Amino acid sequence: MPNTLYLDANATTRVLPEAQEAAARAMGEHYGNPSSSHSCGLVAKEVLEHTRSAAREVLGVVDGQIAFTSGATEGIQTAVLSALCAARQSKAGHLLVYGATEHKAVPQALAHWNAVLGLGFELRALPVDAQGQHDLQLLAAWLPETALLCTMAANNETGVVSDLAGIEAQLRQRGDKALWLVDGVQALGKLDMHLQATRIDYAVFSGHKLYAPKGVGLLYVRRGAPFTPLLAGGQEDGMRGGTENVPGIAALGAVLQALLRGDTFAPAETLRAYRDRLEQSLRAAVPSIVFNAPLENSLPTTLNFSVPGLAGKTLLDMFDAAGLRLSAGSACNSANSAGSHVLTAMGLGSERTGSAVRLSIGALTTALQIEQACAAIARCAAALPREPVAPSNIPLVAGAAPTLLWCELKEFLAQHPQAQLVDLRETCEQEVAVVPNGGCSAVSAPMSSLDRLAPQWLRETPSQPRVLVCRSGKRSQQAALWLQSLGLKQTWHLHGGLALRPASWP
Ligand code: PLP
Repeated sequence: MPNTLYLDANATTRVLPEAQEAAARAMGEHYGNPSSSHSCGLVAKEVLEHTRSAAREVLGVVDGQIAFTSGATEGIQTAVLSALCAARQSKAGHLLVYGATEHKAVPQALAHWNAVLGLGFELRALPVDAQGQHDLQLLAAWLPETALLCTMAANNETGVVSDLAGIEAQLRQRGDKALWLVDGVQALGKLDMHLQATRIDYAVFSGHKLYAPKGVGLLYVRRGAPFTPLLAGGQEDGMRGGTENVPGIAALGAVLQALLRGDTFAPAETLRAYRDRLEQSLRAAVPSIVFNAPLENSLPTTLNFSVPGLAGKTLLDMFDAAGLRLSAGSACNSANSAGSHVLTAMGLGSERTGSAVRLSIGALTTALQIEQACAAIARCAAALPREPVAPSNIPLVAGAAPTLLWCELKEFLAQHPQAQLVDLRETCEQEVAVVPNGGCSAVSAPMSSLDRLAPQWLRETPSQPRVLVCRSGKRSQQAALWLQSLGLKQTWHLHGGLALRPASWP
């Protein structure tokens, strides 16, 4: 099977080795409770303050406050709660305005706290143009009635960088009462930020998008901005109750220090060159490809593209077979079959939104990995189906399919020497990587043609033991239930598919 090349850094990243070490030190040595007054507590407290001062430096914060959170979603909730509690008192305006391409956590937090607090404010999505830029004229018209404005610094699906200076100019002219929340998740480490010099009231960041672990984030609150804690309890100067996640914060500190030193992460020009190389290799491999956001105004790490006529799922399954881990838009929406709300907001039709794929690299990516990715893209291009893969006609059958785990497979094959491993992946996936069959016989039966194969199996080999395998175990489960319902009782499915294949499997 091919090497894994992780190209989904906007979803999450691995943890920087020195951040892992910092977390391990915090767990093994600096394990005190930062609120304890004895020396162990003081040492743990020092870990927090070390990270906080690095965060101040990276974010350009002088007298505003920085609190540690569990991630950006918590930061968003806290900022929204704070702003809405203040707006309830001040009657500043009745509009809650958010960019139409915001991460879903933002409109959902607005709707949630608006309902919980019984405010009855009106939520309005600020449209964006075909380039993903906010409509500043409409913003200007709405601002006098706006209590809270939420805009992201850079978009997680397209990489489009917002015109925060333009938004700020409108706020200064017409929105003196509005509070302003900026989601800086995708900008951290990629764009320069001098929060203190801006009109931003709240800004949120997440560690796991930048080589720190999941479960740690930052919330910036401008000096004098209203604040209501989401978690009462006293820690973090009363801003966020609960014993701090010292290992996560220590790891984030190591990442921030690396950013400040400038010797660990690739600079923006290098990342841009990598992205451009990937873009060229995609264009060469798939001439009909279209890119869904302008590259000149995007993060140097993100590409979003569609191949008209091919479903995003077909592309992703094929890329995955080639070892390339990409995604369809945001990870949080990947279970959602509706097209991307971000691309829809940019005016793209269902053909583009339904086939959109996001490729995002991180600042630890190497030139070698880019070359390997380009080679894998070329392999995929050779296997690209000429026509859309027909959707499977197999009906959904309820129940639990007979399931095998990878650790049981060897023994199963020893007990059933005639068993066949049935590869349900589509031809394009099979062409870029074969399933290692562990010595047993293997057959190809793409899911889209299973309805034609099954009657033949039923006629000719009804008691043939078959183990169905696919990429994730989803197709194999559905197919096993259906084949069982037809009477092919000797059918099993392999739980977790190729994704859970142990490295030790032949
Ligand atoms: N905002 C943006 C732009 C994101 O990309 C994400 C992560 O998916 C979030 C917010 C949520 O971040 P977290 O996972 O730290 O809660």
